[in-house]
Amino acid sequence: MKKSLLENFYRYVAQTSSDPQAIEVASAEGVFIFDKHGKRYFDLISGIAVSNMGHTHPVIIKAIKQQIDKYLHLMVYGEFVQEPQVELATLLCEYLPPSLNSVYFVNSGSEAVEGALKLAKRATHRQEIVYFKNAYHGATHGAMSVMGNLEYQQAFTPLLPATKAISFGIENELEQITEQTAAFIVELVQGEAGVRMADANYWKQVRQRCSDTGTLLIVDEIQTGLGRTGKLFAFEHYDIEPDILLLAKAFGGGMPLGAFIANKQIMNELTYNPVLGHITTFGGHPVSCAAALAHLKLIVEGEMWKKAESIGNRLTDIFSKINSVKEIRHIGALLAIDFENPIFCNNMLKRMLDKGIISDWFLWCNTALRIAPPLILNQQHLDEIEYYLKFFHNRNL
Ligand code: PMP
Repeated sequence: MKKSLLENFYRYVAQTSSDPQAIEVASAEGVFIFDKHGKRYFDLISGIAVSNMGHTHPVIIKAIKQQIDKYLHLMVYGEFVQEPQVELATLLCEYLPPSLNSVYFVNSGSEAVEGALKLAKRATHRQEIVYFKNAYHGATHGAMSVMGNLEYQQAFTPLLPATKAISFGIENELEQITEQTAAFIVELVQGEAGVRMADANYWKQVRQRCSDTGTLLIVDEIQTGLGRTGKLFAFEHYDIEPDILLLAKAFGGGMPLGAFIANKQIMNELTYNPVLGHITTFGGHPVSCAAALAHLKLIVEGEMWKKAESIGNRLTDIFSKINSVKEIRHIGALLAIDFENPIFCNNMLKRMLDKGIISDWFLWCNTALRIAPPLILNQQHLDEIEYYLKFFHNRNL
């Protein structure tokens, strides 16, 4: 007898955890995901900070359809002149500081990290990489070498040598960045650590220390980019400029796409000696770039970062009324709702799912719910979410 989709999911699709949410998705539109039974879910996580303009946005779908009628994959990235890539790179650079003027397209966030680490080593002729404790930059070997979690790192040793972890937000530890350091890779808002931030003065010191020592500052905006934090890019909050900027997740408008962006002079290190210093077959796929271009235009035209700000404030207000919530950390529409203990948090996640609200958890902060909704959540949606969450105000979890 033919097995059900769910049975085959557990049987043939590799599992990353023992307890997947396992919603059997029928369709998704705007801020909603619908399962095969017709149940409607508010998506408060956006495929983990991906669908900033919501699901299946008609403008993005149109751009994808127009592109698939012209061509799909043609040639490894960087060989042919492909309009969606060129237009996207050109538009993106308009919104970046002039020094960030060369875009290298890749497939994912992790690959953007790999490319940036390689580029920093080539450009500085140094080997050492400094990173933060509790950082998350991806799951490939290079990215795991700068993952600020020993338990995960130790499970996959040996990783890259010459890496050094320092504490987030502690000024005197910046002394560990020296003239031996090729790159300092940072998340301006630590995601997996549960939305942790440092002040603008700290980031000024970071920038200064990197400039003084000739260390390249790699800013990972894979989660924080494209309006999520209340600015188009989070580095605008702190008035600093990265040497290398990393984008992925929302960047592709729902399609797989990443990029590392630097000054042309630095980027040339991957062009010569050896030639083809980083190559990627599908990086900058034309359909992904067409979607990303449409998405970037929507974000900018709609000034979606302003919406992120008001959504974040309202959700903070809504969640703060729940008794068992201990603390809420947020910037724009990226929130950590911290409970007294991991059990409360896990129970809340499951009970919200029963009520048709999808959220998620953090890798290095098991007491907090992770909230990163589409930036198109409107007042009516928020009123409805508030109504459902009233159920939890005075209840034990
Ligand atoms: N950096 C950050 C800050 C991320 O949040 C992620 C994804 N969670 C990555 C890198 C890795 O991106 P990907 O999963 O596309 O490889």
